[in-house]
Amino acid sequence: MTTTVAPATAPFRFFDVHVVRTRRLGPSLMRITFGGERLDALACGGRDQRFKLFLPQPHQDRPVFHDTGDGWYAAWRAQDPAERAVMRSYTIREQRPHAGEFDVDFALHGAEPGAAVTAGGPASRWAAGARPGDRLTVLAPVVEDNGGVDFRPPTGTDWILITGDETALPAIAGILSWLSPGTRAAVWIEVDHEDDRQQLPTFADAEVTWLVRDRAAAGSGEPVLDALRAAELPGGTPYAWVAGEAGTVKAVRRHLVRERGFDRRAVKFTGYWRRGATEEDLIAELTAGTAPDED
Ligand SMILES: Cc1cc2nc3c(=O)[nH]c(=O)nc-3n(C[C@H](O)[C@H](O)[C@H](O)COP(=O)(O)OP(=O)(O)OC[C@H]3O[C@@H](n4cnc5c(N)ncnc54)[C@H](O)[C@@H]3O)c2cc1C
Repeated sequence: MTTTVAPATAPFRFFDVHVVRTRRLGPSLMRITFGGERLDALACGGRDQRFKLFLPQPHQDRPVFHDTGDGWYAAWRAQDPAERAVMRSYTIREQRPHAGEFDVDFALHGAEPGAAVTAGGPASRWAAGARPGDRLTVLAPVVEDNGGVDFRPPTGTDWILITGDETALPAIAGILSWLSPGTRAAVWIEVDHEDDRQQLPTFADAEVTWLVRDRAAAGSGEPVLDALRAAELPGGTPYAWVAGEAGTVKAVRRHLVRERGFDRRAVKFTGYWRRGATEEDLIAELTAGTAPDED
């Protein structure tokens, strides 16, 4: 499973950014547009471009973060966890270099419309309450071809299979808008509400299936896995991109490799979050070498 504890800085750079505006996209998603000085140097590779954001603690008005260059990760870890910035991984949904802006779509896990913003983790809570002017630090790419882009179908790929949940939706949107005209793509996206569905502009020949979770049956099924099992897949050489909750990602990958005969090297799979674990927990496991096996 691809997970990076912390990218080395080059070709990434720290930027101080602020919230320009927010827009609720649906019950579970908040789009936050960021601006800032020097953002013309940010170079998004598109597709599933990941980056790190550093949030203030609830009692702070800006993140406590010191840009110490390549040694930043050790310096950050050495800080008091109650004071240091909260680090999270997100996707650049869209960059508008001429306006000096970029968008990030935050899944508001635990936040129903009108619900208290105390639900969810620090990033979700921050996004639910974000206001223009709020400040963050981000570690983002400065060259387009950077290691934060995972979607890289090899030459000879005949068709693309994509699965994900609302945390992967920004990346899926970026991938679909990047695919060449006529590329065949089969896409399954799991969301909480009907109104979380979006238009996903693409030139690809994409068939997108939205799977709205059945809250009454929560925990008793795997919508993406069930849909995949029932699907008739195209022939030819596939490339799969799978992201979302780590347990689901693992099960989907296993299905594709073991039951569908996909070449495991052609399945890019990434746990974007894991039920019951914060991102700190996941980083601690990786650092200690105790992360669960891929199979
Ligand atoms: C490469 C990469 C790109 C990502 N891109 C995006 C993105 O563009 N948009 C986005 O919204 N997320 C994205 N994520 C996922 C996001 O980083 C996690 O959901 C993160 O845990 C949210 O941080 P938090 O502080 O809100 O929750 P945490 O403090 O990390 O977790 C608190 C609790 O909430 C649970 N939890 C975390 N996320 C969810 C969820 N989505 N649904 C239900 N429960 C959850 C955890 O299991 C834990 O129990 C990405 C992750 C990766 C690795």
